[in-house]
Amino acid sequence: MTPSSDAGGRPPVDEEAIERLCTVGPEDVQAATELTFARNVFVPLTTACRYTCTYCTYYDPPGEATLLSPEEVRDICRRGARTGCTEALFTFGDDPDDRYTAVHDQLDAWGYDSIHAYLRRACEIAIEEGLLPHANPGDQTREQMATVAT
Ligand code: SF4
Repeated sequence: MTPSSDAGGRPPVDEEAIERLCTVGPEDVQAATELTFARNVFVPLTTACRYTCTYCTYYDPPGEATLLSPEEVRDICRRGARTGCTEALFTFGDDPDDRYTAVHDQLDAWGYDSIHAYLRRACEIAIEEGLLPHANPGDQTREQMATVAT
């Protein structure tokens, strides 16, 4: 199948590439000569998620989920940078502001129309504090990616 975006604008899926990847085994992979890592500070932007995967230990239900304020994000990033971190790892559940009205309302009160718009600001804060932002926001549409990255 030729890769192409679907009607919803989702990224193309290359079925042949997936088939090829599924045939790769341990014998096809060379051991790395060295391992590197980026020391990161964990920044759980919110513990809300629109899903409720039964194995998940990350999300909190509506009414219990936390949402870090911009000041809290800055404080965590600053302390991370002081202790030698080079990255800020931003995490949250999938489209949390879709399901959690309190999260949505708080973001709105802060001037952000979505968690992705807020993530972009959080990434800017990380850069201001000397860290490389590393965003881990779950499924995203092209528009959501553009909100964060452009
Ligand atoms: S999508 Fe991720 S954060 Fe949300 S419930 Fe599932 S595992 Fe947890």
